[in-house]
Amino acid sequence: MNILSAENRQKSEDWRRKNKRPLKYGNPDRTFQQSHQHPGTMEPPPDEDRHFRDEHYPQRHFRQTFGHVMNQGGNLLTPDQLKKRNKKTHETVAKALQQTFEKLDDLRRYCFVCERSDKVNRCARCQMVYYCGQKCQKKDWARHKKVCKFLSGERIDQVTETLPVQNACHVLKPGRTWSKPAGEVATWADWLSINPSVVSEIQRNVPSMVEWYKFIGRPTTEAAVTESLQRCCTEMLTHPIVIGKGLVTFNVDPRVKPVHIHMVGAAKPELLMSEIDTTKELSAMFPNHKGMRILLVGPEVPHKLAHGNPPSNKTLSKGKIEYVYSNELYHDFVHRYVDHDRCPKADLVIALHPGLHTEVLIEPWTPTINLLLDRELPTVFTMYNVAEYDDSLEILIPFRPNYVQSGTNPFGSLLAKQTPFDLNQVFASNSYIMAIKGREK
Ligand SMILES: [Zn+2]
Ligand SMILES: [Zn+2]
Repeated sequence: MNILSAENRQKSEDWRRKNKRPLKYGNPDRTFQQSHQHPGTMEPPPDEDRHFRDEHYPQRHFRQTFGHVMNQGGNLLTPDQLKKRNKKTHETVAKALQQTFEKLDDLRRYCFVCERSDKVNRCARCQMVYYCGQKCQKKDWARHKKVCKFLSGERIDQVTETLPVQNACHVLKPGRTWSKPAGEVATWADWLSINPSVVSEIQRNVPSMVEWYKFIGRPTTEAAVTESLQRCCTEMLTHPIVIGKGLVTFNVDPRVKPVHIHMVGAAKPELLMSEIDTTKELSAMFPNHKGMRILLVGPEVPHKLAHGNPPSNKTLSKGKIEYVYSNELYHDFVHRYVDHDRCPKADLVIALHPGLHTEVLIEPWTPTINLLLDRELPTVFTMYNVAEYDDSLEILIPFRPNYVQSGTNPFGSLLAKQTPFDLNQVFASNSYIMAIKGREK
């Protein structure tokens, strides 16, 4: 469940139809966008039948088409190098790049205030919102100024996500461990400081990327590209680190005992996470752990997975992370499995972007929330942006949750995107977080 939830998607759809706007390319599964196309440890094979594929995402389409000619043995060729190799290919690539970015701009090419679509100019700073003139731009500035900076970043990320460069996290070796205790790594900067291989992988890619930025007419600095590549890493690893930090918050130590993590309302992001197994980061966080079993539970979990790897009581193996699946609502699952000793109770419950801020979703969530609070299960909820967070806080008031932690999440993804239905709002995975245990006394 996410910001492109049924309700929001409908809203966006209605609005678009009314205004005859082209379809937005918002990809509900944003973890895909930066998982670049080349064979690597964190890239799922591109053409298997995946329920979360989005072929209409222009950047991804470009990478799939031109990755093999632009990237040779893990090195991104510069525009000049490509030209020297094959002039014709170079021309094709240049044209495809132009079309890709035009497509992205077309989605926004209308006055955001009055919706006119002729003679529009964009915000000079971020270039991500268009206006018909100064009057409309001035009217919008109070709202726009809050996101302009993030949108300038997204403008850069658009190119980063298009160029066929593997996510820098692909260099993380299996079996490595964090050189600091999980509790002491407090920010992404701390995380980078203990992962010099990622830092140098980013540095390795920056120079040729800068050439491409210049080539397509969006010149930028090495520092800006570096930050953009770092943002892509945060997007890749935010989910596993949020899980690990949730364990730390509730003093659950997988090095002391095997742990059971229940990811409730699991949908595309969680399924992708299990598929490309970014949770091996948890093994790096907790060296020599006693085993972790991650349950993905929710009506959106495919039957096939639920049948193939059902919840279990089996003993966990040291150092192993295992996935099990169930496609029912969590409170039903608990009554059927946990209450009949068919599965241990959760040491940590996580719901990524449950969408509690919407009237439509709070209703099906209500019995689950009551169960979580009544049984005092350590629970983490995350939200995509401040608007969702504020609304969720408000909607949860009658439940009287006891907050152990709440607010911005230092390990939220930094890859912020414009929401498809309001160009003055941005969202990023796990931006805000609530850790809850039981009810207020
Ligand atoms: Zn206007
Ligand atoms: Zn702007």
